[in-house]
Amino acid sequence: MARRAKRLKTYRAKRDFSITPEPAPEEQAPKKRGELSFMVHKHDATRLHYDLRLEIEGALASWAIPKGPSFNPADRRLAVQTEDHPLSYGTFEGRIPDGEYGAGDSMIWDRGTWETVPPGQEVWMREKGHLEFVLHGEKLKGRWHLVRTRGHGSGKSEWLCFKAKDELANPDFDVVTERPESVVSGKRVTRGPLRRKTIDAAHPDPMSL
Ligand code: MN
Repeated sequence: MARRAKRLKTYRAKRDFSITPEPAPEEQAPKKRGELSFMVHKHDATRLHYDLRLEIEGALASWAIPKGPSFNPADRRLAVQTEDHPLSYGTFEGRIPDGEYGAGDSMIWDRGTWETVPPGQEVWMREKGHLEFVLHGEKLKGRWHLVRTRGHGSGKSEWLCFKAKDELANPDFDVVTERPESVVSGKRVTRGPLRRKTIDAAHPDPMSL
């Protein structure tokens, strides 16, 4: 199996594309120019969280951050690695139907381009468990770190996401509270799954959503 198809196998297995409006993986990765894309989905699932997605080798490496990112370098935010998503997921904004995996509203909370510091090291840095990178988003900017603290390989590893101490670090700027809106639709409100309790029982691991 091609390397990229293998990376998207879990994504495909968890979803019924005849029900969910989320995109099915493309057969071939779209041809890309030089820049790598990133986006953050604000996902009102079993538990509200922020999905940071970084384009690496034709797919979106993904981390679920329960509290969301912070511009305060002292805030080390838990980031649980989830399955890689197809590049086409980057434009998805909508509601995942009740009863489906990840049910609830998902909005594009931020988007832009990113690069490692120094550039071009994303595959190696992910493998090593320490990504140092620059985000050029509408909300998230400057240098950031993702550091693996538990687990390795394709399972659910735990990482910490935090702002580097650069000129854009700002302990007084609470970005998730001050900028709740979608950067695509401007929508500010999200709605979680209708039957939260039922879904809780079906998915005892809320981070997986
Ligand atoms: Mn999610």
